[in-house]
Amino acid sequence: MSGSVVWLRDDLRIADNPALRSAVDRGGPVTVVYVLDEQSEGIRPHGAAARWWLHQSLAALDTDLRAHGTALVLRRGAAADVIADLVAESGADAVFWNRRYGRVEREIDAGIKAGLVAGGVEAHSSAGTLLWEPWTILTGKGEPFKVFTPFWRAAQAMPEPRHPWPEPETIAPPADVASDTLEDWALLPTAPDWAGGMRDAWTPGEHGAWDRMERFIDEALADYDQRDEPAQAATSSLSPHLRWGEISPYQVWHRLHETLEPDQRRAAPAFLRQLAWREFNWNEYFHCDDIARTNVRREFDAFPWREASDAELDRWRHGTTGFDLVDAGMRELWHTGAMHNRVRLATASFLVKNMLVDWRIGEQWFWDTLVDADAANNAANWQWVAGSGFDAAPYFRVFNPDRQLERFDPHREYVRRWVPADEDRPEPMLDLKTSRQRALDAYAEMRRA
Ligand code: FAD
Repeated sequence: MSGSVVWLRDDLRIADNPALRSAVDRGGPVTVVYVLDEQSEGIRPHGAAARWWLHQSLAALDTDLRAHGTALVLRRGAAADVIADLVAESGADAVFWNRRYGRVEREIDAGIKAGLVAGGVEAHSSAGTLLWEPWTILTGKGEPFKVFTPFWRAAQAMPEPRHPWPEPETIAPPADVASDTLEDWALLPTAPDWAGGMRDAWTPGEHGAWDRMERFIDEALADYDQRDEPAQAATSSLSPHLRWGEISPYQVWHRLHETLEPDQRRAAPAFLRQLAWREFNWNEYFHCDDIARTNVRREFDAFPWREASDAELDRWRHGTTGFDLVDAGMRELWHTGAMHNRVRLATASFLVKNMLVDWRIGEQWFWDTLVDADAANNAANWQWVAGSGFDAAPYFRVFNPDRQLERFDPHREYVRRWVPADEDRPEPMLDLKTSRQRALDAYAEMRRA
């Protein structure tokens, strides 16, 4: 017997999926598997909001695969064991996947590839998740770019990203390969079920991603210059769909180069530049080990962070700091699994600078609560705010949440959505001026060290 296994990871889609398409083109039955790997050493478990998304996205993918003639196989365990078992069970003689870029994941994949090849099974990996493989855009010295603008310039000088791969029409199913059920995995919150706000806000899956894409182009792209105003629906909200690979950056890139109205065409470069931040952060993640735990600028290892009490941290986490913009943002996050970028910056700066709390504590909270939480973009953005990452905001730039509110939500439209006008508000938990000075003093102390 022969056939292929397609191992999906951060690419939960059928269209523009090089691994899937290559396996189908090869002929023979194709076993399409998602592995819930919480066993392999070093793998960071998904946060709670991500688990909710994953459940919905896999359910949607299974429905779509059935319309193409096959069903999604779900397996749980260390990926190396699961893939070896599946190859044996299905009699496949080739395995296909799209690449992952974290160190741990790369090592796992390299080990699996070596094992397969040693056993006479072909192993093929493709580029499906990033527009530019992280080893392709380098400075003249062959090093990764540490500043975004020259990175983006170099990226634009590269050949245009490839066109999306066509979707396979039919996928021949394997004979009799057992699958877990999604219910077995218990990814959804039950007691209590806190996912109502996320259900209202999102439609995970490939169709949901394309609805977002087209709605963004029709209704918002032309106003993308208002993207810093959280009250406006001026951004795409594509980040979780990109995170889970329900839409690929190649599809987004080329859609933005297809037919557009003149106003939309004018706005497209600014949008693609944001998309390139995603690439830049993945480059940082690829080239610097473990950015969710380690300061990219090692001088920050000497930073005198404060030990905040649980009560203080809870005020930040649950949006009762007494600062309207911060509280609105943290409530939006808790309720919907997302937060506007401008407000992410303000809430993160408040934690790291005004509260003087180690950025890793904030990164972990976002990791648990964001539906778009991804290993590169979450950590890199936290390090950007903290001043410890590539191309970071200088530490001494401390956002004032009240001024940010005046500037970006002057009519309090956004804030009022999450902090009702008639709410009995808590006293501000800190003084902005003295806490700012304390942050600057701490930074000076680190510099002396
Ligand atoms: P749009 O403005 O429509 O941008 C289009 C796409 O470009 C986004 O979907 C996203 O993929 C990418 N993008 C935009 N801005 C950024 C950015 N600053 N960094 C990286 N990619 C960007 N983004 C994540 O995808 N996952 C995270 O875990 C994450 N954590 C963050 C944590 C902090 C502290 C901060 C300040 C930002 C974080 N971001 C993260 C970046 C950014 O806030 C979101 O990508 C953005 O809010 C998504 O909204 P959108 O899809 O409407 O963006």
